[in-house]
Amino acid sequence: MLTKTPKECWEDFIHFVEECCSATEFQNWIAPIKVDSSTDSELVLEVPNIFVQEYLLQNFKKHLDNFLPTKANGQLALSFVIAAPKKQTPLKTEQPAPPLMVTEKQECSLNPLYTFEHFIEGTSNQFVKSAALGIALRPGKSYNPLFIHGGVGLGKTHLLHAIGHYVKQHHKRLKVHCITTESFINDLVDALRNKTTEKMKRFYRTLDVLLVDDIQFLQSRLNFEEEFCNMFEALINQNKQIVITSDKPPGELKLSERMIARMEWGLVANVGIPDLETRVAILQHKADQKGIKISHKVAFFIAERIFNNVRQLEGALNRLAAFSQMMGLDVTEEIVENTLSELFQKTQSKRVSMDNILKSVAIMFGVRVSDLCGSSRAKNIALPRQVAMYLAKEMINDSLMKLAASFGGKTHSTLLHAWKKISNQIGKDEMLRRQIQMARRNIES
Ligand code: ADP
Ligand code: MG
Repeated sequence: MLTKTPKECWEDFIHFVEECCSATEFQNWIAPIKVDSSTDSELVLEVPNIFVQEYLLQNFKKHLDNFLPTKANGQLALSFVIAAPKKQTPLKTEQPAPPLMVTEKQECSLNPLYTFEHFIEGTSNQFVKSAALGIALRPGKSYNPLFIHGGVGLGKTHLLHAIGHYVKQHHKRLKVHCITTESFINDLVDALRNKTTEKMKRFYRTLDVLLVDDIQFLQSRLNFEEEFCNMFEALINQNKQIVITSDKPPGELKLSERMIARMEWGLVANVGIPDLETRVAILQHKADQKGIKISHKVAFFIAERIFNNVRQLEGALNRLAAFSQMMGLDVTEEIVENTLSELFQKTQSKRVSMDNILKSVAIMFGVRVSDLCGSSRAKNIALPRQVAMYLAKEMINDSLMKLAASFGGKTHSTLLHAWKKISNQIGKDEMLRRQIQMARRNIES
Protein backbone atom coordinates (compact mmCIF):
# COMPACT_ATOMS: atom_id res chain seq x y z
CA MET A 1 0.00 0.00 0.00
CA LEU A 2 1.22 3.46 -0.84
CA THR A 3 1.92 5.74 2.05
CA LYS A 4 2.41 8.79 -0.14
CA THR A 5 0.20 10.36 -2.77
CA PRO A 6 1.59 10.55 -6.32
CA LYS A 7 1.97 14.29 -5.80
CA GLU A 8 4.13 13.77 -2.75
CA CYS A 9 6.16 11.18 -4.65
CA TRP A 10 6.69 13.74 -7.39
CA GLU A 11 7.90 16.27 -4.83
CA ASP A 12 10.40 13.73 -3.51
CA PHE A 13 11.56 13.12 -7.07
CA ILE A 14 12.03 16.88 -7.60
CA HIS A 15 14.20 17.15 -4.49
CA PHE A 16 16.23 14.23 -5.68
CA VAL A 17 16.72 15.67 -9.18
CA GLU A 18 17.65 19.06 -7.82
CA GLU A 19 20.49 17.42 -5.94
CA CYS A 20 21.77 15.35 -8.80
CA CYS A 21 21.63 17.62 -11.85
CA SER A 22 23.24 20.97 -12.56
CA ALA A 23 21.42 24.19 -11.74
CA THR A 24 21.19 25.06 -15.45
CA GLU A 25 19.70 21.70 -16.31
CA PHE A 26 17.25 21.94 -13.46
CA GLN A 27 16.21 25.48 -14.35
CA ASN A 28 15.75 24.70 -18.03
CA TRP A 29 14.12 21.34 -17.94
CA ILE A 30 12.70 20.42 -14.58
CA ALA A 31 11.57 23.64 -12.93
CA PRO A 32 9.05 24.45 -15.71
CA ILE A 33 7.15 21.21 -15.03
CA LYS A 34 4.07 21.69 -12.87
CA VAL A 35 1.65 19.26 -11.30
CA ASP A 36 -1.59 19.64 -13.24
CA SER A 37 -3.68 17.27 -11.18
CA SER A 38 -3.15 14.29 -9.01
CA THR A 39 -5.48 11.56 -7.85
CA ASP A 40 -4.70 8.64 -5.58
CA SER A 41 -3.77 6.58 -8.56
CA GLU A 42 -2.32 8.95 -11.15
CA LEU A 43 -0.22 12.04 -11.51
CA VAL A 44 -0.80 14.48 -14.37
CA LEU A 45 2.05 16.84 -15.13
CA GLU A 46 1.84 20.04 -17.08
CA VAL A 47 4.84 20.66 -19.34
CA PRO A 48 5.51 23.81 -21.36
CA ASN A 49 6.16 21.74 -24.50
CA ILE A 50 6.77 18.28 -25.79
CA PHE A 51 10.56 18.69 -25.60
CA VAL A 52 10.45 19.03 -21.83
CA GLN A 53 8.32 15.91 -21.58
CA GLU A 54 10.72 13.96 -23.75
CA TYR A 55 13.68 15.24 -21.88
CA LEU A 56 12.20 14.14 -18.58
CA LEU A 57 11.35 10.68 -19.84
CA GLN A 58 14.62 10.17 -21.64
CA ASN A 59 16.91 11.32 -18.88
CA PHE A 60 15.09 10.39 -15.72
CA LYS A 61 13.03 7.34 -16.61
CA LYS A 62 14.85 5.12 -14.15
CA HIS A 63 14.38 7.56 -11.30
CA LEU A 64 10.76 8.17 -12.19
CA ASP A 65 10.24 4.42 -11.96
CA ASN A 66 11.82 4.46 -8.53
CA PHE A 67 9.88 7.39 -7.18
CA LEU A 68 6.46 7.27 -8.79
CA PRO A 69 3.73 4.67 -8.40
CA THR A 70 3.01 2.28 -11.26
CA LYS A 71 -0.26 0.99 -12.65
CA ALA A 72 -1.38 -2.62 -12.54
CA ASN A 73 0.23 -3.20 -15.95
CA GLY A 74 3.58 -2.02 -14.64
CA GLN A 75 3.48 1.31 -16.52
CA LEU A 76 4.11 4.57 -14.71
CA ALA A 77 0.95 6.14 -13.34
CA LEU A 78 1.90 9.34 -15.06
CA SER A 79 0.50 11.39 -17.89
CA PHE A 80 1.21 14.80 -19.38
CA VAL A 81 -0.67 17.80 -20.58
CA ILE A 82 0.93 20.60 -22.56
CA ALA A 83 0.44 24.05 -21.09
CA ALA A 84 -1.60 26.50 -23.11
CA PRO A 85 0.75 28.87 -24.91
CA LYS A 86 1.21 32.26 -23.29
CA LYS A 87 -0.55 35.09 -25.14
CA GLN A 88 2.60 37.00 -26.04
CA THR A 89 4.37 33.94 -27.42
CA PRO A 90 4.09 33.89 -31.17
CA LEU A 91 4.72 30.14 -31.34
CA LYS A 92 2.36 27.43 -30.26
CA THR A 93 4.43 25.34 -27.92
CA GLU A 94 2.79 22.08 -28.83
CA GLN A 95 3.73 22.34 -32.45
CA PRO A 96 6.18 19.68 -33.59
CA ALA A 97 9.78 20.81 -33.94
CA PRO A 98 9.60 23.26 -36.81
CA PRO A 99 12.33 23.28 -39.44
CA LEU A 100 14.17 26.41 -40.41
CA MET A 101 13.74 29.08 -43.02
CA VAL A 102 15.72 32.02 -44.18
CA THR A 103 14.96 34.97 -46.37
CA GLU A 104 17.45 37.27 -48.04
CA LYS A 105 16.49 40.29 -45.98
CA GLN A 106 17.56 38.79 -42.69
CA GLU A 107 21.05 37.82 -43.79
CA CYS A 108 23.52 40.01 -41.95
CA SER A 109 25.78 41.46 -44.58
CA LEU A 110 29.43 41.45 -43.70
CA ASN A 111 30.86 44.79 -42.66
CA PRO A 112 33.57 45.51 -45.27
CA LEU A 113 35.86 46.99 -42.62
CA TYR A 114 35.74 43.93 -40.37
CA THR A 115 38.59 41.98 -41.96
CA PHE A 116 41.64 40.23 -40.51
CA GLU A 117 43.84 42.97 -42.00
CA HIS A 118 42.02 45.56 -39.93
CA PHE A 119 42.05 43.51 -36.74
CA ILE A 120 44.91 44.54 -34.46
CA GLU A 121 46.50 41.78 -32.49
CA GLY A 122 47.66 41.96 -28.90
CA THR A 123 48.11 39.50 -26.07
CA SER A 124 44.42 39.69 -25.19
CA ASN A 125 43.20 38.52 -28.59
CA GLN A 126 46.13 36.67 -30.21
CA PHE A 127 44.75 33.25 -29.46
CA VAL A 128 41.23 33.92 -30.64
CA LYS A 129 42.51 35.63 -33.78
CA SER A 130 44.66 32.67 -34.76
CA ALA A 131 41.78 30.31 -34.05
CA ALA A 132 39.56 32.43 -36.31
CA LEU A 133 42.19 32.49 -39.01
CA GLY A 134 42.65 28.73 -38.69
CA ILE A 135 38.94 28.28 -39.29
CA ALA A 136 38.97 30.63 -42.25
CA LEU A 137 41.89 28.77 -43.82
CA ARG A 138 40.33 25.33 -43.49
CA PRO A 139 36.61 25.64 -42.82
CA GLY A 140 35.07 22.53 -41.31
CA LYS A 141 38.41 20.86 -40.94
CA SER A 142 39.79 22.14 -37.66
CA TYR A 143 37.81 23.19 -34.59
CA ASN A 144 34.10 22.92 -34.94
CA PRO A 145 32.32 24.92 -33.70
CA LEU A 146 34.54 27.85 -32.84
CA PHE A 147 32.92 29.66 -29.91
CA ILE A 148 34.13 33.24 -29.41
CA HIS A 149 33.14 34.99 -26.21
CA GLY A 150 34.01 38.27 -24.53
CA GLY A 151 32.68 41.62 -23.33
CA VAL A 152 30.91 44.26 -25.37
CA GLY A 153 32.87 46.09 -28.06
CA LEU A 154 35.92 43.86 -27.96
CA GLY A 155 35.83 42.66 -31.56
CA LYS A 156 33.70 39.49 -31.60
CA THR A 157 31.55 40.58 -34.53
CA HIS A 158 34.67 41.92 -36.23
CA LEU A 159 36.33 38.48 -36.08
CA LEU A 160 33.15 36.69 -37.15
CA HIS A 161 32.85 38.87 -40.25
CA ALA A 162 36.59 38.53 -40.90
CA ILE A 163 36.12 34.77 -41.17
CA GLY A 164 33.21 35.37 -43.54
CA HIS A 165 35.23 37.69 -45.78
CA TYR A 166 38.18 35.36 -45.86
CA VAL A 167 36.17 32.30 -46.76
CA LYS A 168 34.24 34.17 -49.45
CA GLN A 169 37.50 35.37 -50.94
CA HIS A 170 39.60 32.24 -50.70
CA HIS A 171 37.05 29.43 -50.93
CA LYS A 172 34.75 30.80 -53.57
CA ARG A 173 32.75 27.62 -53.92
CA LEU A 174 31.75 27.52 -50.27
CA LYS A 175 28.44 28.99 -49.21
CA VAL A 176 28.76 31.31 -46.23
CA HIS A 177 25.86 32.62 -44.20
CA CYS A 178 26.13 35.11 -41.36
CA ILE A 179 23.18 35.67 -39.09
CA THR A 180 22.47 37.35 -35.80
CA THR A 181 20.60 35.23 -33.29
CA GLU A 182 17.79 37.76 -33.24
CA SER A 183 17.30 37.42 -36.99
CA PHE A 184 17.37 33.68 -36.66
CA ILE A 185 14.51 33.83 -34.20
CA ASN A 186 12.60 36.28 -36.39
CA ASP A 187 13.13 34.00 -39.40
CA LEU A 188 11.78 31.11 -37.48
CA VAL A 189 8.70 33.00 -36.37
CA ASP A 190 8.06 34.14 -39.97
CA ALA A 191 8.61 30.65 -41.31
CA LEU A 192 6.04 29.23 -38.96
CA ARG A 193 3.58 31.95 -39.77
CA ASN A 194 4.03 31.67 -43.54
CA LYS A 195 4.40 27.92 -43.58
CA THR A 196 7.70 28.22 -45.43
CA THR A 197 9.70 26.12 -43.05
CA GLU A 198 10.72 23.64 -45.72
CA LYS A 199 12.41 26.37 -47.68
CA MET A 200 14.32 27.47 -44.61
CA LYS A 201 15.40 23.95 -43.85
CA ARG A 202 16.62 23.44 -47.41
CA PHE A 203 18.55 26.67 -47.28
CA TYR A 204 20.41 25.74 -44.12
CA ARG A 205 21.23 22.31 -45.49
CA THR A 206 23.11 23.88 -48.36
CA LEU A 207 25.43 25.97 -46.19
CA ASP A 208 29.14 25.30 -45.74
CA VAL A 209 29.92 27.96 -43.18
CA LEU A 210 27.40 29.34 -40.70
CA LEU A 211 28.37 32.40 -38.65
CA VAL A 212 26.06 33.13 -35.72
CA ASP A 213 26.40 36.40 -33.82
CA ASP A 214 25.30 36.96 -30.21
CA ILE A 215 23.99 33.55 -29.22
CA GLN A 216 23.11 34.94 -25.77
CA PHE A 217 19.81 36.06 -27.29
CA LEU A 218 18.79 32.43 -27.49
CA GLN A 219 18.56 32.27 -23.71
CA SER A 220 15.13 31.48 -22.32
CA ARG A 221 13.74 30.86 -25.82
CA LEU A 222 13.25 27.16 -25.36
CA ASN A 223 11.53 26.36 -28.65
CA PHE A 224 14.01 28.27 -30.71
CA GLU A 225 16.86 26.75 -28.82
CA GLU A 226 15.69 23.28 -29.70
CA GLU A 227 15.46 24.24 -33.35
CA PHE A 228 18.83 25.86 -33.32
CA CYS A 229 20.31 22.78 -31.76
CA ASN A 230 18.82 20.53 -34.45
CA MET A 231 20.20 22.70 -37.21
CA PHE A 232 23.52 22.90 -35.43
CA GLU A 233 23.84 19.14 -35.17
CA ALA A 234 22.80 18.58 -38.77
CA LEU A 235 25.51 20.93 -40.00
CA ILE A 236 28.26 19.70 -37.69
CA ASN A 237 27.53 16.11 -38.65
CA GLN A 238 28.25 17.02 -42.24
CA ASN A 239 31.51 18.78 -41.23
CA LYS A 240 30.08 22.17 -42.06
CA GLN A 241 31.78 24.95 -40.15
CA ILE A 242 29.96 26.84 -37.42
CA VAL A 243 31.26 29.90 -35.61
CA ILE A 244 29.34 31.40 -32.71
CA THR A 245 29.86 34.57 -30.71
CA SER A 246 28.52 35.28 -27.25
CA ASP A 247 28.93 37.73 -24.40
CA LYS A 248 29.53 34.82 -22.01
CA PRO A 249 31.30 31.45 -22.13
CA PRO A 250 28.99 28.52 -22.95
CA GLY A 251 28.73 27.31 -19.35
CA GLU A 252 27.40 30.66 -18.16
CA LEU A 253 24.61 30.88 -20.71
CA LYS A 254 21.15 29.98 -19.54
CA LEU A 255 20.74 27.31 -22.17
CA SER A 256 20.04 23.60 -22.02
CA GLU A 257 22.82 21.21 -21.10
CA ARG A 258 22.52 19.75 -24.57
CA MET A 259 23.07 23.09 -26.23
CA ILE A 260 25.94 24.02 -23.93
CA ALA A 261 27.61 20.69 -24.54
CA ARG A 262 27.32 21.19 -28.32
CA MET A 263 28.89 24.60 -28.11
CA GLU A 264 31.79 23.22 -26.10
CA TRP A 265 32.44 20.50 -28.68
CA GLY A 266 34.99 22.51 -30.61
CA LEU A 267 37.15 25.34 -29.40
CA VAL A 268 36.08 28.00 -26.92
CA ALA A 269 38.16 31.18 -27.18
CA ASN A 270 37.98 34.42 -25.27
CA VAL A 271 38.49 37.98 -26.57
CA GLY A 272 39.96 39.93 -23.70
CA ILE A 273 40.38 43.62 -22.99
CA PRO A 274 43.32 44.89 -25.05
CA ASP A 275 46.30 46.23 -23.11
CA LEU A 276 47.46 49.82 -23.43
CA GLU A 277 49.89 49.20 -26.31
CA THR A 278 47.26 47.35 -28.30
CA ARG A 279 44.72 50.08 -27.67
CA VAL A 280 47.19 52.65 -28.95
CA ALA A 281 47.81 50.51 -32.05
CA ILE A 282 44.07 50.11 -32.63
CA LEU A 283 43.51 53.85 -32.32
CA GLN A 284 46.29 54.61 -34.77
CA HIS A 285 45.00 52.05 -37.20
CA LYS A 286 41.46 53.39 -37.00
CA ALA A 287 42.74 56.96 -37.38
CA ASP A 288 44.63 55.91 -40.54
CA GLN A 289 41.51 54.24 -41.88
CA LYS A 290 39.52 57.41 -41.35
CA GLY A 291 42.27 59.59 -42.72
CA ILE A 292 42.86 61.39 -39.43
CA LYS A 293 46.37 62.13 -38.27
CA ILE A 294 47.05 61.59 -34.59
CA SER A 295 50.42 61.44 -32.91
CA HIS A 296 51.53 58.54 -30.77
CA LYS A 297 51.24 60.79 -27.75
CA VAL A 298 47.66 61.69 -28.55
CA ALA A 299 46.73 58.04 -29.11
CA PHE A 300 48.34 57.20 -25.80
CA PHE A 301 46.45 59.95 -24.03
CA ILE A 302 43.12 58.60 -25.24
CA ALA A 303 43.98 54.92 -24.77
CA GLU A 304 45.01 55.54 -21.19
CA ARG A 305 41.59 56.91 -20.38
CA ILE A 306 39.32 54.60 -22.31
CA PHE A 307 40.27 51.03 -21.71
CA ASN A 308 37.58 48.41 -21.59
CA ASN A 309 35.81 48.82 -24.88
CA VAL A 310 37.28 49.29 -28.34
CA ARG A 311 34.02 50.72 -29.62
CA GLN A 312 34.31 53.56 -27.13
CA LEU A 313 37.84 54.24 -28.33
CA GLU A 314 36.44 54.62 -31.81
CA GLY A 315 33.75 56.92 -30.46
CA ALA A 316 36.40 59.21 -29.01
CA LEU A 317 38.25 59.17 -32.31
CA ASN A 318 35.13 60.04 -34.27
CA ARG A 319 34.48 62.91 -31.99
CA LEU A 320 38.00 64.20 -32.48
CA ALA A 321 37.69 63.80 -36.23
CA ALA A 322 34.42 65.70 -36.33
CA PHE A 323 35.87 68.47 -34.24
CA SER A 324 39.06 68.85 -36.21
CA GLN A 325 37.19 68.75 -39.52
CA MET A 326 34.71 71.31 -38.35
CA MET A 327 37.49 73.60 -37.24
CA GLY A 328 39.73 72.72 -40.18
CA LEU A 329 42.56 71.78 -37.81
CA ASP A 330 44.86 68.82 -37.35
CA VAL A 331 44.37 66.77 -34.23
CA THR A 332 46.81 68.33 -31.82
CA GLU A 333 47.18 67.59 -28.16
CA GLU A 334 45.46 70.84 -27.41
CA ILE A 335 42.40 69.81 -29.39
CA VAL A 336 42.38 66.45 -27.66
CA GLU A 337 42.57 68.11 -24.28
CA ASN A 338 39.68 70.38 -25.14
CA THR A 339 37.45 67.88 -26.87
CA LEU A 340 38.03 64.86 -24.75
CA SER A 341 38.47 66.56 -21.42
CA GLU A 342 34.89 67.60 -21.91
CA LEU A 343 34.03 63.97 -22.55
CA PHE A 344 35.95 62.83 -19.49
CA GLN A 345 34.52 65.55 -17.32
CA LYS A 346 31.05 64.46 -18.26
CA THR A 347 31.71 60.87 -17.43
CA GLN A 348 33.52 61.67 -14.20
CA SER A 349 30.58 63.55 -12.83
CA LYS A 350 28.54 60.36 -12.92
CA ARG A 351 27.78 58.94 -9.49
CA VAL A 352 29.71 55.82 -8.65
CA SER A 353 27.35 52.95 -7.98
CA MET A 354 27.95 49.62 -6.31
CA ASP A 355 26.66 48.00 -9.46
CA ASN A 356 29.38 49.68 -11.48
CA ILE A 357 32.07 48.58 -9.09
CA LEU A 358 30.90 44.99 -9.11
CA LYS A 359 30.61 44.89 -12.89
CA SER A 360 33.99 46.49 -13.53
CA VAL A 361 35.81 44.27 -11.07
CA ALA A 362 34.04 41.19 -12.44
CA ILE A 363 35.13 42.07 -15.99
CA MET A 364 38.65 42.92 -14.94
CA PHE A 365 39.16 39.63 -13.13
CA GLY A 366 37.05 37.45 -15.40
CA VAL A 367 34.58 36.40 -12.70
CA ARG A 368 30.83 36.83 -12.35
CA VAL A 369 29.12 39.51 -10.29
CA SER A 370 27.31 36.70 -8.51
CA ASP A 371 30.71 35.27 -7.51
CA LEU A 372 31.64 38.58 -5.94
CA CYS A 373 28.48 38.51 -3.89
CA GLY A 374 28.74 34.83 -3.13
CA SER A 375 30.65 33.00 -0.47
CA SER A 376 33.28 31.02 -2.39
CA ARG A 377 36.70 31.22 -0.79
CA ALA A 378 38.53 30.07 -3.92
CA LYS A 379 41.48 32.41 -4.43
CA ASN A 380 40.47 33.46 -7.94
CA ILE A 381 37.18 34.71 -6.51
CA ALA A 382 38.17 35.85 -3.01
CA LEU A 383 40.78 38.29 -4.37
CA PRO A 384 38.45 40.08 -6.82
CA ARG A 385 35.82 40.20 -4.08
CA GLN A 386 38.29 41.90 -1.75
CA VAL A 387 39.25 44.31 -4.53
CA ALA A 388 35.58 45.19 -5.05
CA MET A 389 35.19 45.74 -1.31
CA TYR A 390 38.28 47.91 -1.27
CA LEU A 391 36.97 50.02 -4.15
CA ALA A 392 33.52 50.28 -2.57
CA LYS A 393 35.02 51.74 0.57
CA GLU A 394 37.31 54.04 -1.41
CA MET A 395 34.76 55.29 -3.89
CA ILE A 396 31.36 55.28 -2.21
CA ASN A 397 30.63 57.49 0.71
CA ASP A 398 28.35 55.22 2.68
CA SER A 399 28.41 53.26 5.93
CA LEU A 400 30.59 50.16 6.01
CA MET A 401 27.60 48.15 7.07
CA LYS A 402 25.57 49.21 4.07
CA LEU A 403 28.48 48.65 1.69
CA ALA A 404 29.15 45.21 3.12
CA ALA A 405 25.51 44.25 2.79
CA SER A 406 25.77 44.75 -0.97
CA PHE A 407 28.14 41.78 -1.15
CA GLY A 408 25.44 39.25 -0.44
CA GLY A 409 25.02 40.36 3.17
CA LYS A 410 28.62 40.36 4.44
CA THR A 411 29.52 42.07 7.72
CA HIS A 412 31.27 45.40 8.05
CA SER A 413 34.31 43.75 9.61
CA THR A 414 34.74 41.51 6.54
CA LEU A 415 34.71 44.59 4.37
CA LEU A 416 37.18 46.40 6.58
CA HIS A 417 39.47 43.39 6.62
CA ALA A 418 39.37 43.25 2.80
CA TRP A 419 40.11 46.94 2.56
CA LYS A 420 43.13 46.67 4.88
CA LYS A 421 44.46 43.65 3.06
CA ILE A 422 44.21 45.20 -0.38
CA SER A 423 45.57 48.58 0.79
CA ASN A 424 48.56 46.70 2.09
CA GLN A 425 48.99 44.55 -1.00
CA ILE A 426 48.82 47.47 -3.42
CA GLY A 427 52.12 48.71 -2.04
CA LYS A 428 53.82 45.43 -2.84
CA ASP A 429 52.08 44.16 -5.92
CA GLU A 430 52.55 46.37 -8.98
CA MET A 431 50.27 44.24 -11.17
CA LEU A 432 47.42 44.42 -8.65
CA ARG A 433 47.91 48.15 -8.25
CA ARG A 434 47.53 48.62 -12.00
CA GLN A 435 44.49 46.39 -12.18
CA ILE A 436 42.82 48.38 -9.43
CA GLN A 437 43.76 51.63 -11.10
CA MET A 438 42.20 50.42 -14.31
CA ALA A 439 39.06 49.22 -12.60
CA ARG A 440 38.78 52.56 -10.85
CA ARG A 441 39.08 54.51 -14.11
CA ASN A 442 36.57 52.23 -15.69
CA ILE A 443 34.12 52.82 -12.85
CA GLU A 444 34.57 56.57 -13.18
CA SER A 445 34.13 56.56 -16.94
P1 ADP B 1 31.61 43.07 -30.14
O1 ADP B 1 30.94 42.29 -31.23
O2 ADP B 1 32.58 42.25 -29.36
O3 ADP B 1 30.67 43.82 -29.27
P2 ADP B 1 32.66 44.54 -32.37
O4 ADP B 1 33.26 43.42 -33.13
O5 ADP B 1 31.41 45.14 -32.86
O6 ADP B 1 32.52 44.17 -30.84
O7 ADP B 1 33.79 45.67 -32.26
C1 ADP B 1 33.51 47.00 -31.90
C2 ADP B 1 34.41 47.93 -32.69
O8 ADP B 1 35.73 47.79 -32.23
C3 ADP B 1 34.43 47.61 -34.16
O9 ADP B 1 34.47 48.80 -34.89
C4 ADP B 1 35.71 46.84 -34.36
O10 ADP B 1 36.27 47.04 -35.63
C5 ADP B 1 36.60 47.44 -33.29
N1 ADP B 1 37.61 46.51 -32.78
C6 ADP B 1 37.50 45.67 -31.72
N2 ADP B 1 38.63 44.97 -31.53
C7 ADP B 1 39.50 45.39 -32.49
C8 ADP B 1 40.84 45.04 -32.82
N3 ADP B 1 41.54 44.16 -32.11
N4 ADP B 1 41.40 45.67 -33.87
C9 ADP B 1 40.73 46.59 -34.58
N5 ADP B 1 39.46 46.96 -34.33
C10 ADP B 1 38.84 46.36 -33.29
MG1 MG C 1 28.91 42.12 -31.67
